Amino acid sequence: MTDLKKFISHAKEYGFVFPSSEIYDGLSAVYDYAQNGVALKKNIRDYWWKSMVQLHSNIVGIDASIFMHPTTWKASGHVDAFNDPLIDNKDSKKRYRADVLVEDYCAKIENKMDKEITKAAKRFGEAFNPEEFKTTNPRVVGYQEKINTILKRLGQSLEKEDLVDVRNLIEELEIACPESGSRNWTDVKQFNLMFGTKLGASAESAMDLYLRPETAQGIFVNFLNVQKTGRMKIPFGIAQTGKAFRNEIVARQFIFRMREFEQMEMQFFIPPGTQKEWYDQWKQTRLNWHLSLGMGAENYRFHDHEKLAHYADAAADIEFKFPFGFKELEGIHSRTDFDLKSHEEFSGKKLQYFDPELNENYVPYVVETSVGLDRMFLAVFSWALREETLEDGSTRTLLKLPAILAPTKVAILPLVKKDGLPELAKQLMDDLKWNHAVAYDEKDAVGRRYRRQDALGTPYCITIDHQTLEDRTVTIRDRDSMKQERIALDAVGGILNEKLDIKNWLKNI
Ligand code: ATP
Repeated sequence: MTDLKKFISHAKEYGFVFPSSEIYDGLSAVYDYAQNGVALKKNIRDYWWKSMVQLHSNIVGIDASIFMHPTTWKASGHVDAFNDPLIDNKDSKKRYRADVLVEDYCAKIENKMDKEITKAAKRFGEAFNPEEFKTTNPRVVGYQEKINTILKRLGQSLEKEDLVDVRNLIEELEIACPESGSRNWTDVKQFNLMFGTKLGASAESAMDLYLRPETAQGIFVNFLNVQKTGRMKIPFGIAQTGKAFRNEIVARQFIFRMREFEQMEMQFFIPPGTQKEWYDQWKQTRLNWHLSLGMGAENYRFHDHEKLAHYADAAADIEFKFPFGFKELEGIHSRTDFDLKSHEEFSGKKLQYFDPELNENYVPYVVETSVGLDRMFLAVFSWALREETLEDGSTRTLLKLPAILAPTKVAILPLVKKDGLPELAKQLMDDLKWNHAVAYDEKDAVGRRYRRQDALGTPYCITIDHQTLEDRTVTIRDRDSMKQERIALDAVGGILNEKLDIKNWLKNI
């Protein structure tokens, strides 16, 4: 597994992510977002919200509570079925998710496959066709078949809740505990992931509650409220961002799998029978949203689910190439009418829509898009962080964040701390701060200040120098190319507005 340490330490050193309550040695799989991290996170959230709510006249947003009536979770199936299969190693006493052990085993085979492909690419040079190689090279074909067979069996066993077979699979594949190296495993058991808590002052009258494990149910229970008060016509969507809580069995890999995290979800309500076409459309729209950030189409892929959750008739993940391999970033689910019907049953209230075109009432079907905000943060951050060797042989640390997401858009740097340059720089900052997140830095040599902004991901630096005093021009430096251009001071605002206009990013979705 690729070392996550460099991401964790950069995130800490540059004020993006801190371990939670660090002075008490932290809390496992819980993190705090620091001054730059919170801005990056907010920018990702805004980018999602704008693309979903602002750009779709038939999608509106809500912000439901984390606490919900406990029957919600009975109706949604979470009390009975929100489980992960866990397995313990008797020697190390470490607990694992049984499905993840098998998936990690497959990821190792995939690594071997990648190595074969890289070797062949070197051997064949320009003429190399990776797609052809993957389908014809016997060794690579064999690896792929092995992965397919294993994942199919895992999916089927989990679907049938055949935990004995999941255990058998781990045994047959001779999977050993990464900690102890031993294959001394317990049986596989189900473990419910919801956190329980209590509402009320006295022990006798207290009511058992759960911290919500997904934001979706807050949307379902409000479906009719929103539809009626917003006079929404199907098809329409309800979007929400907010915290969710899961008592994850294995919470490693930094902010990839946390116990408290944030989701950005949208439930799209449609007439029954149209789910296939909407599911395909939302899969594509959501992939396009990811691609609009410019992090490379080769880093994304769809993974269609073998094992479907209790509420779904089709499901796919958009996977991203994280430092530890391709993993789920977003889920798109065709949730049928499961949730609304179930809430009707448990609440005794009708959750139906009168369709004026069909002149009939029905419980709508739902297509859901659900992306983890923290996971998206990790995708962007890990893709962006790189060490570059420059022409003069020196290196620089670069955080190549998509400019639209960068915490600070522009840093204003007076070349020296005298001769009226700081005053001019501060004036420019006062001008720009209405539209952009601006930083001011006058400490150290300007080269060092550029490096600092590179490591923070700031896409533009404006330097005020002595020439500014003479002809009111400044330099604008581009983070990625490091090229500097001299432009009129009065043109800076207009140039930045153009470069950072969200329209240029979202218009191709
Ligand atoms: P996984 O298989 O990784 O546990 P999931 O399929 O249970 O994820 P969903 O219930 O579909 O995830 O949740 C939607 C999204 O929420 C996921 O695609 C992921 O981005 C995010 N997410 C889920 N669990 C966590 C977590 N523990 N920490 C951070 N993000 C999470």
